[in-house]
Order: sequence, then structure tokens, then C-alpha cells
Amino acid sequence: MKLTTGQTYWDKTAKPTSKFSVLEEDYNAEIVIIGGGMSGTLAAYKLASAGKKVTVIDRCEVGRGSSSANTGLLQYASDTMLSEFVDRIGEKDAVLFYKMCLEAMDELTKIASTLSKSTGYRLRDSIFYASTPNDVDKLKREYSYLKKYDFPAEYLDHQKLVEEYGIDKPAALRTWHDAEVNPYQFIQALTAENLKMGVTYFEHTSVNLDSLVENTVMTESGAKISFDSIIIATGYSKLYSELNGKAHINQTFAIATKPIEGELWKDSVMVWETKKPYLYFRTAPGGRMIAGGLDEESSELYDDPEFIQQKGQEILDEIKEMFPHLDVQIDDAWNSLFGISKDGLPFMGAAPHQDNVYYLLGYEGNGTCYSMAGASIIKDLLDGTHNPYAHIVKPSR
Ligand SMILES: Cc1cc2nc3c(=O)[nH]c(=O)nc-3n(C[C@H](O)[C@H](O)[C@H](O)COP(=O)(O)OP(=O)(O)OC[C@H]3O[C@@H](n4cnc5c(N)ncnc54)[C@H](O)[C@@H]3O)c2cc1C
Repeated sequence: MKLTTGQTYWDKTAKPTSKFSVLEEDYNAEIVIIGGGMSGTLAAYKLASAGKKVTVIDRCEVGRGSSSANTGLLQYASDTMLSEFVDRIGEKDAVLFYKMCLEAMDELTKIASTLSKSTGYRLRDSIFYASTPNDVDKLKREYSYLKKYDFPAEYLDHQKLVEEYGIDKPAALRTWHDAEVNPYQFIQALTAENLKMGVTYFEHTSVNLDSLVENTVMTESGAKISFDSIIIATGYSKLYSELNGKAHINQTFAIATKPIEGELWKDSVMVWETKKPYLYFRTAPGGRMIAGGLDEESSELYDDPEFIQQKGQEILDEIKEMFPHLDVQIDDAWNSLFGISKDGLPFMGAAPHQDNVYYLLGYEGNGTCYSMAGASIIKDLLDGTHNPYAHIVKPSR
């Protein structure tokens, strides 16, 4: 299944650095991770750092799945507001979930600071604006919950938003502890660390997950993999039967612009909004802008480059309306699959009927933050250690 069509920006920023062999013979693993995207890579990093013996297997190349379509806005606030989660899953779990995300953001920032290769990781504030005057009350309610539990957030009224950021919208929340990243470079840098810690990799090896029985699974070419534990980090490639009715696959569009002259906006903040589907954008090195939106409820990607460009233009037109002084032109435009869950939460933890099988599926907007949190949850589950967030995101919920 194709995960992306069109031309993504990140692919142009780094060449694949490691070429791993194909798994052709039967193989014994302690922990095998299926999928070498952001989720599999972070899980391998977390587990190998704890001294575990890990093997990562990918049917293509490491980091070339949805992770290379990721626009790289890393935020603790989710697509579902804390106040919405309060109504949906209760105040206690809603707050715990947001705490999980904030901790994951801080862990990503800490990991990024230890990596010697370039990753484009920079702490950035986010501006979450009210798309219409009707959304201002929603934003105020959100702010009151964020403040009540000491999450890093500030309320900006219209005047302050215009004066400070040149954004003419009714109101906004500013949040911090957020960051931007080049996801492809980040995966490459982590992979280099994983290799140093003894993680084994295989590429161009497709695993037939329907063949999974107890402690074995087959590759499509007939090699048998035996394992103590298996972590399924296959992103949006397959909708597993355990998730039937709880998740679906949509599609979305994103663009990278050509370099733009001058300072784009104050502090290079990352911007998004209350409307659904929302428009979002950030700056990127070299004076570029990266933006996305226009989600559609279909899992059929478009193949026509002109159509993808046209959708990219729609995204760009919305940005031009906000910043008419900027001369912005599209350089790259892409169309990608995107996983949505019914309750707004990712699926991370033990599979419902097999206790040595774990899912690490960061469905919903800030998937990278979820991948980080999920890696910690799975490590705790493997160690038999209590994790305060595991019950909220467990696949059997
Ligand atoms: C356009 C777009 C913008 C996004 N923007 C953001 C953002 O700004 N911030 C954010 O946090 N998140 C964002 N996301 C979400 C983010 O990209 C995902 O959360 C993340 O990529 C998921 O990583 P993953 O490792 O789970 O999936 P992937 O990167 O897709 O990795 C899964 C891997 O599994 C492999 N695989 C699949 N099946 C098999 C099999 N049977 N055998 C072997 N290997 C297999 C695939 O080849 C692939 O490499 C965005 C997503 C899209 C599409």
C-alpha cells in the first residue's frame, strides 16, 4: 500500500545513509520491531538504551514511510483539546494523557540534544488560533483547563495576536515545550545511535503479519522469525482487525514552499487553528515554509501530480490571505494517508489477545509525540513496570 504520492520535502534533505540486508533465512530475535519509521526507531532507541536486544525489520527503507511525509511540528497539545478529552474520557485521564504528551515532548528534546548528526530539531512555541469568533469561548475554556493543571500556555487576545505575531484572528493560545524537526534526518540520527547500541536492521523484508502465531511470524518470502516479543510499528500501512470500528485511514495534503525573502513571522512559531480539518504551518531552514491540511475522508491517494499541486495551491492561498505581503510559491507538494482514531487517542500497548504482541500506532495529529510516549509505555510493559498512562491508550480500550 502506497503511503504517499507527490514529492515530499524531507526526501531531498538527506540521502539514505545505511543500506541494510534483506532477511532471507530463519531468524531468532529477542524483541523484533516491524517497521523502521519514527515509531519503530524510537522504540528501538528506548529499548536498546535499556540494554535490550532489538531487531528492526522494514519492508522498504528505514524512515521512508509516512515519517518522511510528516511536516515535523511536535506539540504536546493534541488534535483533540484537553477540554474536549475532559468531556470524552473524564478529567483525570484527560489530564494524564496531556501530561504523557508533555513528558514525551521533553524526552524528545532531551534525546535530540544528545544526537551528533543534524536533525533540524529546534524548540518552538506554537500558536493555536480561533478560526472564527464563535471559537473564542472554546479557546477560553481550553485555557482554563491548561492553566488549572499548569500546562505551559498563555491566552492571547486579538490585539496581542496582531501586535506580536501579525496574525489577524480573534484570539489564540500560545504553548511552549513544542519543537520542529526534520523527521527523516531525526530517524537517520537515531538509527546511527541504535546501530552503536547493537540494534540489528533488515530492509526490503516484508513481514506477513497474518502469519503471526504465538512466538513466530513469517516473512513474505518464507523466512521464519522466532521472537520473545514483537512490536508492530507499521504506521498506516494496515488497519488491524483489533482496531475495527475504532480507527480509519484518511488522507491529507502538505507543501513546502520555495525560499521566501525576509523574516516570516516572530520567533518562527508553529501555527494551527480550531477549525476541522485545520490549516497548519511552520518555517523551515533556508526561509521555507511547510504547511498542510485539507484532510479528506478517503484512503485512496491521488496519483495526478497536477491535482496534488492544485490542492497545495489551496493550502497556499489560505496562508496568503493571512500574510498578503509574503511572496510564497510551492516547491514540493504531497498527498499522504493519515490514521484517525474515533476517540482521538493513539493505540499503544499489548494486543488484546496475545500478551507478547504490542502495537505502537501513533494515529492522530501529533504522531511523533505519541511514538515517543508509546515507546516508553511498551518498555514498561516489557519490564513489568507500572506505567501511569498505559490504560488510556491501550488498544483493547
Ligand atoms: C502529511 C502528514 C503530516 C504529518 N505531520 C505531522 C506533524 O507535523 N507532527 C507529527 O508529530 N506527526 C505528523 N504526522 C504523523 C506522523 O507522520 C506519523 O505519526 C508517523 O510517521 C508514524 O510513524 P510510524 O513509524 O508509525 O509509520 P511509518 O513512518 O509509516 O513507518 C512504518 C514502517 O513500517 C513499514 N512496514 C509496514 N508494513 C510492514 C510489514 N508488513 N513488514 C515490514 N515492514 C512494514 C513501512 O515500510 C514503514 O517504513 C504527519 C503525517 C502525515 C501523513
